[in-house]
Amino acid sequence: MSRILDGTAVSRQIKSEIAARAANLKRRGIQPGLAAVLVGDNPASAVYVKNKVQTCAELGIYSRRLDFPVAISTAELLDQIRILNHDDGIDGILVQLPLPSQIETRLILDAVDPQKDVDGFHPENVGRLCANLPGLRPCTPAGIMELLKRERIEVRGKEAVVIGRSDIVGKPLALLLLHESATVTICHSKTVDLPGVCRRADLLCAAMGRPGFVTPDFVKSGAVLVDVGINRISDELQAEKFFAGSARMDNFRARGSVLIGDVHPQCYAVVSAYTPVPGGVGPLTIAMLMANTVQAAMLRRGWF
Ligand code: NAP
Repeated sequence: MSRILDGTAVSRQIKSEIAARAANLKRRGIQPGLAAVLVGDNPASAVYVKNKVQTCAELGIYSRRLDFPVAISTAELLDQIRILNHDDGIDGILVQLPLPSQIETRLILDAVDPQKDVDGFHPENVGRLCANLPGLRPCTPAGIMELLKRERIEVRGKEAVVIGRSDIVGKPLALLLLHESATVTICHSKTVDLPGVCRRADLLCAAMGRPGFVTPDFVKSGAVLVDVGINRISDELQAEKFFAGSARMDNFRARGSVLIGDVHPQCYAVVSAYTPVPGGVGPLTIAMLMANTVQAAMLRRGWF
C-alpha cells in the first residue's frame, strides 16, 4: 500500500507554528507585513492573491494588496517596488506572476529588496541558495523539503530525479535536495530517454506542467513521488483517460473540469509514497510564503 503525503495537513501544522511566531513578535511590538502586488485582471492571479491575503489575516500577519492597471509601465511599477522597499511596515514583497507582456519581469524581480524577497527570486537569494548560505528560499521547493522532512522521507544518499529546470521550482528544488546530500539529476525537454533516467530515482519529482505525463514506466517500484504539477483539464475524453471509474470523474461531471498533476494516477500503485493533486504540494506554497514573511521580519531586524 502506498502512503499519501498529505500536504494539506502539513501546511496546517506549519501555519499554526507561524501564527504562534507572529503572536510572539506581536508581543515585542512587531507585526510582520506582506505586500501583494497584482497587475491587471488575470482571474487566476486574483484568486492566488486573495488566498494569500486571507491566509495572512488568519495567521496574524499584516497584508496590503496593491492593484495596478494592466497597462502600467515597467518604470511605474519599479517606482512602486522602491516605495515598498522603503516602507517600514512591509517585511515581504510578493509580485504575483505572470506580469503583462510589456513589463520587464526580470527588472521588477531584481528591484525587490533581497531582504524583503519572500519569493526567493532575487539573484542575491538565488546565489545564497547555490552557496547553501542562509536566505529566503523559493516557496514551492522549500515546502516540498518541509513535507519530506516532516513525513520522515530520507533524502541523504538517495537518487533524486527532478523533471523540470525552471527558476521557480525545478532548479531550486534540485539544489535543496543536493544540500540534503541526495544524488540529483535534473531533466528537461531535451533529456534523452526520460523514462529510463526517471526509473533510477528513489525520489522522483515532477515539475513540468504536463497533465499525467509521468506514467508507471517512469517509476521504480517503491520510489517516492512528488507531483508539483497543477493542470486543469476540461476535456471529458482526457479526464476519462486518467480518472475513468473513480470519484474524480463524478467531480469532473459536476464541475466541468478537474485538476491533475504531472503524474498519471496509475503510478500510485507502484510507489511507496506520493503527493496527491490537489492536496499535496499546492497547500505548502502559501504556508512557506507565510513562513518567509515572518523570517524576513526577523532577518530585517537582525534576529535569526
Ligand atoms: P515551467 O517554467 O513551464 O517549466 C517546465 C519545465 O518542465 C521546463 O524545464 C521544461 O523543460 C520541462 N518540461 C516540459 N515538458 C517536458 C517534457 N515533455 N519532458 C521533459 N521535460 C519537460 O513550469 P514551472 O513554473 O516550473 O511549473 C511546473 C508545474 O508546476 C506547472 O504545472 C505549475 O502549475 C506547477 N506549479 C505548482 C506550484 C504549487 O504550488 N504546487 C507552484 C509552482 C508551479 P525545458 O526547460 O527544456 O523547456
